[in-house]
Amino acid sequence: MGTLKVPSTIAQGLAWAQAQGVDRLDAQLLVLHALGRPERERAWLLVHDTDTLPEALHAALQATVWRRAQGEPLAYITGHREFYGLDLRVNTHVLIPRPDTETLVDWALEVLTSMAAANPLPARVLDLGTGSGAIALALKHTRPELQVSAVDFSTDALTVARANAQQLRLDVGLIQGNWLAGVAGRFNVIVSNPPYIAATDHHLSALAHEPIHALVGGTNGMDDIRTIITQAPAHLLSGGWLLLEHGYDQAAAVRSLLTAAGLQDVQSRRDLGGIERCSGAFLAQTLSVANS
Ligand code: GLN
Repeated sequence: MGTLKVPSTIAQGLAWAQAQGVDRLDAQLLVLHALGRPERERAWLLVHDTDTLPEALHAALQATVWRRAQGEPLAYITGHREFYGLDLRVNTHVLIPRPDTETLVDWALEVLTSMAAANPLPARVLDLGTGSGAIALALKHTRPELQVSAVDFSTDALTVARANAQQLRLDVGLIQGNWLAGVAGRFNVIVSNPPYIAATDHHLSALAHEPIHALVGGTNGMDDIRTIITQAPAHLLSGGWLLLEHGYDQAAAVRSLLTAAGLQDVQSRRDLGGIERCSGAFLAQTLSVANS
């Protein structure tokens, strides 16, 4: 791989990055990152393309461009990713938030809006396998009156979620645990983007930089989804919804599990690519007298 010429303008820096195999958008974002400017300032770059790229930044820019050229996701290199209008910190302990997951947030907000019409009390929401905190923080940011809790098994992931909650000044309760095993009480909405890729899925090679335990849900990808669906009814309030993201080919299987768990109004939603990506259902009546 070549190195940057000294001196270089911003335009030459961008051209050099693209010559290393980085696409134009990522080259712009890496130059902005090296300059310490926010990603939204791409227009600034275009206006300043004849400015000198300070030589003191060359080594750092070269290092990030080479990492990107070797396939490392941009979000891990810059350390952040936008989700639902929020700037979230990420590192390799958490999955990078995907635009498709915004479908799940939209659905949860819809369900919560119709609940609010019937019940003035602030709704209780739980996000299982929160990772960076993306879903929980998006919900709390959009509807500050919600009582939002979030679970992750990984303490490293919870450290990222906590940093994001503090940075965004959003009050979300964070719980270390194995799905619902350590969670007390019942919720109006339980939401989750669990690991759902099959251990044998060839798509995994494209996801090699992300934490495997956040991606793979057992041999056929359904282990964690099955656990959550089994545990959730005991933690839903009457009329409470369970909403899950899942793999492109899992909607029918997830709907069967939701029906088998005694939930009502079982249905799926499509993502931005038109794929049935989320499924959910609600609990008509709490199943036991215990309402801890
Ligand atoms: N949607 C992610 C992908 O296929 C996987 C997320 C997950 O396993 N929860 O890239």
